[in-house]
Amino acid sequence: MEGNLFIITAPSGAGKTSLVRALLDGDEHIKLSVSHTTRQPRPGEEEGVHYHFVAEPEFVDLLNHGDFLESAQVHSAYYGTSRSVVNAVLAQGLDLILEIDWQGAEQVRKQYPAAISIFILPPSMEALEQRLNNRAQDSAEVIVRRLAAARDEMRHVAEFDYVTINDRFEHALEDLRAIIRSQRLRREKQLLRYQDMVQKLL
Ligand code: 5GP
Repeated sequence: MEGNLFIITAPSGAGKTSLVRALLDGDEHIKLSVSHTTRQPRPGEEEGVHYHFVAEPEFVDLLNHGDFLESAQVHSAYYGTSRSVVNAVLAQGLDLILEIDWQGAEQVRKQYPAAISIFILPPSMEALEQRLNNRAQDSAEVIVRRLAAARDEMRHVAEFDYVTINDRFEHALEDLRAIIRSQRLRREKQLLRYQDMVQKLL
């Protein structure tokens, strides 16, 4: 049985990455897709773990070969999701998370109408700014740009199936787990999963 495809979108600073990491830690049936990007690695980021870091010509090559299920330009770099990895993971019956922006989400929905999209909102603009400052990974100029981009991103919240507010980390994590669990409990999945057992009951 094919796994579920989850799209998780949030403005930078909403805590998406930590939430996704916590989700993966507690659940071996869900994987995270590692995107390709043309941006430079940040301190501590590893090739193949956080991203596949590629130069622009290589990215364009992959794009032209149709290797990306979706791709977008975000903050002046290119990002893309490998189509073959998505297909392979889902075919293994594992669930997969795509941590992508609203443009990517739009492209994935068209190709995988069954994909479940989740938007993570910060509790306020102030909280978002504070988290970006605390992260201390980006310059002041980059932070200003990211805040403006955050507003643009959040304007797309209505396109998503589920919304959670990351005010308290544990609550948001519980929300995400509930969304994933409810998806796994859908009738069509359950009746397939428990085919033999259900047959005996009816
Ligand atoms: P960052 O550079 O901070 O890791 O990510 C910047 C933005 O790019 C985030 O909003 C993230 O969700 C988005 N992003 C990361 N990977 C992909 C991808 O493969 N496709 C798309 N469309 N967006 C991505």
